[in-house]
Amino acid sequence: MNINKQTLELGVKPSCIRNVFSYAKQRALEIGEENVFDYSLGNPSVAPPDEINQTVKELLDKESSVLIHGYTMSPGDMNVRKIVAENINERFNQNLTFKNIYMTCGAAASLTITLKAILNAGEEVIAFAPFFPEYSVFTENAGAKLVVSEPEEGTLYVDLKDFESRINKNTRAVIINSPNNPSGVVYPEYIIKGVCEILNKKQKEYGETIYLICDEPYRELVYDDLKVPYIMDYYDNSFVCYSFSKALSLPGERIGYIATNPKMDYVDEVFFSICGAGRSLGYVCAPSLFQQVIAKNINVKVDVNVYKENRDILYNALLSYGYTCVHPDGAFYLLVKTFGDTAIEFCETAKKFELMLVPCDDFCLDGYVRLAYCCDKQKIINSLPAFEKLAKYYKK
Ligand code: PLP
Repeated sequence: MNINKQTLELGVKPSCIRNVFSYAKQRALEIGEENVFDYSLGNPSVAPPDEINQTVKELLDKESSVLIHGYTMSPGDMNVRKIVAENINERFNQNLTFKNIYMTCGAAASLTITLKAILNAGEEVIAFAPFFPEYSVFTENAGAKLVVSEPEEGTLYVDLKDFESRINKNTRAVIINSPNNPSGVVYPEYIIKGVCEILNKKQKEYGETIYLICDEPYRELVYDDLKVPYIMDYYDNSFVCYSFSKALSLPGERIGYIATNPKMDYVDEVFFSICGAGRSLGYVCAPSLFQQVIAKNINVKVDVNVYKENRDILYNALLSYGYTCVHPDGAFYLLVKTFGDTAIEFCETAKKFELMLVPCDDFCLDGYVRLAYCCDKQKIINSLPAFEKLAKYYKK
């Protein structure tokens, strides 16, 4: 069989999140959907804002079908890229032009393209555990190696000492994700500053560029008016890999962008390399209709209060039953510590109570499980007795 072994392996091995999700679907057929508490998938549960469907209808009614469904330029429609750049400038006081924006099919494509554009074989990328499992797939696809930096115990913030110890002359990039999947943690400004100071020092020491890639699909999902620092204020050689999947509840439409920091070394060449990486991966000309939808709704966001309410119900209830949780300030995930056994064992036990939880092993974190609370509020309320029984089972 003359096919690629690595891609075969990736295709055959389902992600552990998908495994739990499939089990939940199967169980729902057996005992009824209302009796299964599925916390596996990070699929937004809040409907996209009304403006989105309205704009789609208007565009389909008013614009030429040939244009609205046609190719745009490879990095995206020029006017859309201008609107995105101006919006970043207004919101974060930056100085971008359309030449800093490459429209993509969501954050996954943004990351894949960016890594491909900057990495060469044998180089290393550091990711802060816990992290989105696809980072290793995307990094290896670019011929490089992913190196894990362990988090600070308890808070799950970046451990700055550990981070510094992982950097060497082969380190070419660092990926940071805040609000974080799977922890829901938003890294405070002092952590961002600390990471950037270390990177600036190491760039000087090795005389090489080290890029900082900010993976931001959850930027807009933060609670209690918390500020998420904008990376371009802190580090010149930085990229923002953004997505509208969660910000506007549009994960199936595959729309996002890469923003390059205009203060980056050789920014024009880097942008050409982004265009080349997009070309080599076949990620050109992001979906035309949704480029226009985004441009017309650049300041529109989903109602995050729905997720905040879910978080408060779940977090407060779990604490009262004796669970140890990491307090989530953003995204729609909650990490819960197991009662001593491995995360895989804990999730198996939880299944006995029809609770479908995801072990964090694939996120490079032991002893924790992830709950995606992007689900119906009533479902969360209905699941609470099962969580209470699970805690009692362990306390026996
Ligand atoms: N990065 C993180 C941290 C994610 O959680 C996800 C999706 O859940 C992605 C990237 C991919 O996002 P998108 O659907 O926009 O490709």
